[in-house]
Amino acid sequence: MPEQPSEKAMQRMRRLVENFTKKSGSYTSPVEGVTESVILGLAQNVDEVGRPLCPCRFYPDKTEEVKHRTWICPCDDMQIYKYCHCLLFVDKEGMPITEHLPEDHEGKEMYGLIEDPHPDKGRALRNKAEEREIERRERPS
Ligand code: SF4
Repeated sequence: MPEQPSEKAMQRMRRLVENFTKKSGSYTSPVEGVTESVILGLAQNVDEVGRPLCPCRFYPDKTEEVKHRTWICPCDDMQIYKYCHCLLFVDKEGMPITEHLPEDHEGKEMYGLIEDPHPDKGRALRNKAEEREIERRERPS
């Protein structure tokens, strides 16, 4: 059973989610329990390694992984493509936004095309897509 994270880390993650949904033009899931369980995982990583490392992925070494920016929430895939692997930042129906993903990305293959409800918002790192795809090939994580 994973340890209960500190209240401080939980509050920090709740604030992050509240602020980032507004900023990125996304929503939290209408499905009960989804948002809270992702927040819990993020908060556990904050307590463990000091950063909100994405809880939906496996890392051989978390301390090593935080040296990269890739999976610190909101991660590169979110900031480049507005795609959240964990369903933390989704559309109003609770589906992950896949519109901006490359065609061969696993998210597009899994969910098909899901349009961005607010294309005018978010994707602050959209110009990093090329670098991200090189990293995806060379450092799968
Ligand atoms: S996939 Fe990205 S945006 Fe979604 S919870 Fe993980 S780190 Fe955050």
